[in-house]
Formats: sequence, C-alpha cells, structure tokens
Amino acid sequence: MQTFTSRSGLREHLGKITKSGGTVGFVPTMGALHAGHLSLLQRSVDENDVTVISIFVNPTQFNNAEDLKKYPRTLDADLAKIETISEAIVVFAPDVAEMYGSTTVSRHFDFGGIENEMEGKFRPGHFDGVGTIVSQLLEIVEPRRAYFGEKDYQQLQIVRKLVEICKIPVEIIECPIFREENGLAMSSRNERLSPEMRAESGFIYQVLRAARERFGMETADGLRAFAASEFRGKEAFGLEYFEVADAQTLEPAKQYLPGRNYRAFIAVHLDGVRLIDTILLN
Ligand code: AMP
Repeated sequence: MQTFTSRSGLREHLGKITKSGGTVGFVPTMGALHAGHLSLLQRSVDENDVTVISIFVNPTQFNNAEDLKKYPRTLDADLAKIETISEAIVVFAPDVAEMYGSTTVSRHFDFGGIENEMEGKFRPGHFDGVGTIVSQLLEIVEPRRAYFGEKDYQQLQIVRKLVEICKIPVEIIECPIFREENGLAMSSRNERLSPEMRAESGFIYQVLRAARERFGMETADGLRAFAASEFRGKEAFGLEYFEVADAQTLEPAKQYLPGRNYRAFIAVHLDGVRLIDTILLN
C-alpha cells in the first residue's frame, strides 16, 4: 500500500498507471473507516486496475466548529483496514494546507436548487464545501469511476450535478447503505454514541421502514405527520427533519406523480451526535 500526502506525488504515481492504460477507481472519504466505506473500496478494487482512497476531513463542509473538532481521526487504524481489502490500494491523505493553501474557503456553486433542500437548509454552506473538495480531488485523481454512498443521497445528487457542471469525465457509482445489526446506518460519527444510545438508535431505521410500508396508503404530508408523531415522547431523539422528496430533484413531495421515485430523508440528533439516513419508498 502506498500513501501520499502531496498532490504532486500522487499525480506522478497515477500518471505512470494511466499511461499504460490502467483504469483508476476513486473512493473519497473523511476517514474513521467502517464496513460501509470498505464496501465502496471493495467495489472499486473489483472494477478498476487501481483504487485510490482519499482520507481528508474537509473543514469547509462543516458548518459547526464543534462537530469538526470532534470528528474522529484514526489514520493508523484506517490504513490497517484498507490493507485487509488489498495491498495495492493507493491512499491520499493530504493536510488542510495541501488542499487549500493559506485560505480555507469554499467556492460557491449553483446546483440548480438541490443544495437548498434538507441538508442544505440545516447546514448552510455544506454543499459548497463538498463541491469544492470533491471537484479538487477529482481533478487530482482523474478517476474513470468514483464511488459514493446512497447514505449521503443528497450529496450523491450534488456530486452528479457537480461533474455535469464542471464537465468532469467520470462515472459516478452509487453504493448501497451498510447498517449495524439494529439497522442504524453505519457512520464514522456512530463511534461517539454511548452504548445505551447506540442500542436505542435502531429506532431511526424502524421509522423509515414503517414510512415505506405506509407509502401508497398515505399522502406525503401524512407520512411527515406519522414520522413526527413516532418521535414525540422519544426524548433522547431530537428530530431535525423528516422529509419525503422526489428522488431525483429532491423537491419535497406534494402529491405522488406517476413514473417518479420518492425517498424519505431523516436527520436526528442523538446523544449530541447528528445522524442522517434515507430510504427509497417505492
Ligand atoms: P464519509 O467518510 O462519511 O464522508 O463517507 C465517505 C463515503 O462513504 C461517502 O460516499 C458516503 O456516502 C459513504 N458511506 C458512508 N457511510 C456509509 C454506509 N453506512 N454505507 C455505505 N456507504 C457509506
């Protein structure tokens, strides 16, 4: 396994591979790797000659300084996990100065409105930060394919829009959500949950599944009311939003239109940790 901290070192290494016709797969992450991340890596290893994983906690996508400070950083453990997938994976782990120079600021993007829904509403500037770092990383790595998780579905749609706007020639591959045994979507932030709260956390996915069962019998507003009532009295859980939206445009659903897919999206605060999840409803 080779690890690079500089763009130039990584570019030089990858140049040799692409010159001889090899395909590059890319998995961008913020580290603190879990089985969900590793599933993306495995898929990329299966589908490409070389896989690059980036590990970079991107400051500009955090709208909350405390969240950035507390974000787990576990590089040595991450490298050990990567090695269990393949010793041929290339790791890119730059520091903030390498990615941003002396001014850690985002570019501003117009993603056509999807940046203003849900995560965009509750995390101002978040998707400008995501767009800034993902576009830079894609320019450095120049992958044939890049792998993103369905768990961060709005981010996935943002990235699809980003590569269209910036005309970046890469195939974006959507990968399914990996879950804990109790249904909690795996996340690096789960490490910060107390054992008691972790045991309770499966409730979030239970509500999503119950919403999926009701889809078809309930209007979108009916589902929103149902989710809100499920969380009433669940004092440990702070429901930030539960939304039913068109899976492509991410606009809140008013009525269900034929031929469209709909998803439920949820953000919940539990034990001081912000958790998100999503499910396809039809
Ligand atoms: P992160 O390190 O949280 O920025 O995530 C890096 C990539 O892994 C993103 O494309 C995420 O959507 C994806 N990912 C995060 N959690 C999961 C999960 N539970 N299952 C599958 N992919 C995930």
